[in-house]
Amino acid sequence: MYKTFNDGMIEVITGPMFSGKSEELLRRVRTLEYAKMLPLLIKPEYDNRFSDDEIVSRCGVRRKTHSLKNINEVYELLKQDKYKAIIIDEAHFFGNSLIEVADDLANKGYLVIVAGLDQDYLRKPFGPIPALMAMAERVTKLQAICVVCQHAASTSFRKDSSNEQNLIGDYNEYEARCRKCHIMGQKQKELLKNK
Ligand code: ADP
Ligand code: ZN
Repeated sequence: MYKTFNDGMIEVITGPMFSGKSEELLRRVRTLEYAKMLPLLIKPEYDNRFSDDEIVSRCGVRRKTHSLKNINEVYELLKQDKYKAIIIDEAHFFGNSLIEVADDLANKGYLVIVAGLDQDYLRKPFGPIPALMAMAERVTKLQAICVVCQHAASTSFRKDSSNEQNLIGDYNEYEARCRKCHIMGQKQKELLKNK
């Protein structure tokens, strides 16, 4: 997988909710462990939908992880062991400070793998991910299945009308949708609001 990796680099795994980002991240973790490249797993403390101290994918795979309030806490953890790779799930919630930190860690020789949403629920670029996609050596953009038309989905549709960008949620709050069905859904919400 990382045949050409002998120095630091950034990899981004992105796509909408339910597209398998956490699953893909945990697959990478397994490969790194076979390659004896000890990975440090982190996620923002903010995201506790499934578990406080684990990365959990919807297919049930789970791994122990460190929940950080601030991405800068990563430097303290790196002192504790001979980590070669840093794996960051739900990275959009770390905010823009992640851009500088990820770049610095890659410059120091770490393999930095970041998984997060590229778009918010209005299809707008989300936090640090778009910039990291531009700076990364490698980008994997995944798709889910649109729950309305079953075509490939690249957006996360929020079912209710709240307008907080960082609303945590899962199946009850969000759906994977294609562009067309996302736009249709937003229009329906607007109509309901104006009734
Ligand atoms: P992510 O981290 O991108 O939110 P996960 O790795 O947690 O994704 O979950 C991906 C899994 O979610 C898929 O393998 C599938 O079992 C399940 N899933 C649920 N809804 C959908 C959907 N609409 N399209 C594709 N997969 C879905
Ligand atoms: Zn659709």
